[in-house]
This record gives sequence, structure tokens and C-alpha cells, in this order.
Amino acid sequence: MSNVPYKIYLSEDELPKAWFDIRPFMKELPAPMLNPKTGKPCTREELSEIFCSDLVDQELNTTEAYIAIPEEIRAFYRMFRPSPVVRAYCLEEMLGTPAHIYYKFEGSNTSGSHKLNSAAAQVYYAKKQGIKHLATETGAGQWGTALAMATAFFGLDLQVYMVKGSAEQKPHRKAVIETYGASVIPSPSDTTEVGRRILEEHPGTSGSLGCAISEAVEYVMTHENSRYVLGSVLNHVLLHQSVIGLEAKAALDKYGISPDIIIGCAGGGSNLGGLIAPFMADKIAGKTNPEVIAVEPASCPSLTRGKYAYDFGDTGKMTPLMKMYTLGSGFIPASNHAGGLRYHGMNSILSKLYHDGYMTARSYEQTKVFEAAVQFARCEGTLPAPESSHAIRAAIDEALKCKETGEQKTILFGLTGTGYFDMPAYTQFNNGTMSDYIPTDAELEHGFASLPKID
Ligand SMILES: *Cc1c(COP(=O)(O)O)cnc(C)c1O
Repeated sequence: MSNVPYKIYLSEDELPKAWFDIRPFMKELPAPMLNPKTGKPCTREELSEIFCSDLVDQELNTTEAYIAIPEEIRAFYRMFRPSPVVRAYCLEEMLGTPAHIYYKFEGSNTSGSHKLNSAAAQVYYAKKQGIKHLATETGAGQWGTALAMATAFFGLDLQVYMVKGSAEQKPHRKAVIETYGASVIPSPSDTTEVGRRILEEHPGTSGSLGCAISEAVEYVMTHENSRYVLGSVLNHVLLHQSVIGLEAKAALDKYGISPDIIIGCAGGGSNLGGLIAPFMADKIAGKTNPEVIAVEPASCPSLTRGKYAYDFGDTGKMTPLMKMYTLGSGFIPASNHAGGLRYHGMNSILSKLYHDGYMTARSYEQTKVFEAAVQFARCEGTLPAPESSHAIRAAIDEALKCKETGEQKTILFGLTGTGYFDMPAYTQFNNGTMSDYIPTDAELEHGFASLPKID
């Protein structure tokens, strides 16, 4: 194992030919999505009014482990995949740890994140169905950028509702999205009914992902030949992100490496779900037993302090109900929170795996996260996204534990992206003005009060 290179590359031929769905391997399936009007599981037909039909099939699939990746999508993937697994030799040395640390790097494309893996797939299926217009939300901007890249490639129109606070903080993100031909509206806006309602109830709000989702869904319900696309949370997004885990496993297998600890940051859960998919199948089957750790911000702690309940995916309560760990669709993270991962809920497959004890979760305050980000940047070179830095924080902490115990554990974490557009947050950290905020139980109760009365 001593001859493991700095970067383990796969060849283009080794780019996965099929995505991998973990559901067929689960002992118990996650609870189905419910239609809030009927209280019954959503049908294929109901979901197809908002989402592309091939994506609905993937969303509802519980039996097929492998879903072939169409050649057109593989052609797009080849522009930025396979992505390397990197052995963090410099970080190991800096920490003085006996642990072996590996990370799967998803930031080497213009969107700067893993989101392009699902954007490519979703836009392809929309085009195949003859859809002309897509609408979506974006928070930090990576999803909007990834989707704009994919709509430019496949030739579709895109309307992006961008969380207002982010649009103001990151004007360059907006410019990148517009460069790829998409239109950006800061949310909440007066262009939708739900936007106007939210503005009336919360004047001066800097917006949230939940609000922006409501606006995008309304756009789709009021425009012909259009569909809504989402960059995380849904099962089909996790499916597309399984290329991360499949490639990581193939790369590590070349050197006979099996991780003892697998770590991912968790916003809506797509990168974590994708990274762990093939490893989790082995774990459920009892072949291996890696510890799987989800890492989230202390200011938006859906797994560590949320409730496992049916909830809406958006603030305007327009989406189907999903059973998940949630802070309530009315939850809006504190305005000083700069580290991303702001979504109130968590994908239902991951929520179920967590509920059933197959993975653990922990949360960190943002100054701790940026401390890890800066350490990582200085020794490994890559400037990490704040989101990714949650996973770095946990990897460093696990490596330091090994230093104490002398254990030589193998740690794999997901480095989901780069942080070039997050320099205002880095600046705050560097000049000591970044602060932490942990919501009180009473504040969380406020969010829980927005949960629908179902179960
Ligand atoms: C969107 C994003 C995340 C969080 O989303 P998940 O769906 O939880 O993966 C993490 N890192 C980066 C760089 C992102 O852009």
C-alpha cells in the first residue's frame, strides 16, 4: 500500500456505464412521497406534471440496482470525469497522523462542484422528452451554474431563482450563470404569487432555498412545456451522484484499499448519498463495516437536531411530502451563516439509513469549518468550498483521534467543490469577524411548528 500515488486516476473507459441505486439493498425501504392533498403516495402521473418522466421513474424505482447511463450523458461526463481520488499525503504529514486520508475531488469543472453530475442527466432527459424550458432554484450558486452549463450544452432555456442574499453576496456567480445563457431572478421576487406573498410576510428577507423552490415550482405550473429540476434532496439526484462512489470504489479497489471511515458533508444529501452508495451496499450485506459520517452545520442541523417526519420540500408548501429528518419547511438559517448546506431537510433514503443506524451524523460551527478549510488549502493546495470543508473538518478530527490512539485507519471523504466564489466568507474568517450561531431549542420549535400534521 506504500506505493499509492498522490492521485489515483481511472481511464475514460472506466467511466461508469450505469448509476447505482442503494434502495434494492436496503432491508427496509424509505417511506414513499405523499401527495399533500390526498395523503396517498404520489403517483407517477402526479409527479410527471412537475418533473421529467424518466426522472420520475428513477425517483420511484426501488428494485433496479443499476440504471444505464445514456451515451449522450457519458459524452458530457467525459469533459470532467472520471475525477481523481487523491491521497492527502501532505495533510497526513502536517497532522502527524498514522491515518491514511483519501478524498474524491469533484471540483474540477466550471460549476466548481459535483452538481454537474446530476445537471447533465436531468437536462438530457428533459430534452429527450421535448421539454423546452427548465426552472430551478439556486442557493450558493453551484447548482444554477451546473444547470446553466448543461442547458447550454443540450440547448434548453433556463430560469434560475437565486436566493437573494446569495445573489447580492456573489454577483460573479450570477454573471457566470448568465454567461451560459440562463436568466437569473433574485428570490423572493415579485414575479410569482408565492414570492409576493413571502415578501409581504417577511419584508426585507434575504430569502431561502425553500422560498426559491416555491417560485421555481410556480413558474413551471404556469408555463407550458416546462419542468422543474432540483439539484439535491430527491432520490434521482442521489442516483446520478452515485458516479462519485462508483469511481471512488473502483479507484481504491485498484490498490486493495477499503475505507474504515467514509465522510461527506450533507446539505440535501446528494453528494453523500452518491459517495457512499456502493460502500453502503456492502455494509448492509455485512461484507464490510465502514463508519459512515454525515457532517452538517451547527446552524442548520437537520440530522442531528431535526425530527424524522413528513414535511414539504419548500417554504411555500407546494411540493409533495417527504419523510425525512427536517427542521420544518419554515426554518430559515441565521443570516450570519456563510457555510452553505442551508437546506431544512435531508434526502429520504439517507434519512432512513440514519434512522436505522447505518450512519452517524455530527455538526460543526462555521469557524471550526473554516479553520479546517484554511489548513487544507495551505497544505493540499486546493481552496475548498465551505460546504466541502465540513467533511474536511470531520476527516481532520478523525485523523487526530488516530494520532492519539495510534490506529492506522483509512479515511475517505468527499471534496465536493472549490470555494473561489466564497471569498467574502473567507475574508470574514481571515479578519476574525466570522461568528457562530447555534439555534436554541425554542427557535427550532418554531420551525417544527410548520410541520404538517401527518403520521
Ligand atoms: C450543493 C453542494 C453541497 C451540498 O449538497 P448535497 O446535495 O448535500 O451534496 C456540498 N458541496 C458543494 C460544493 C455543493 O455545491
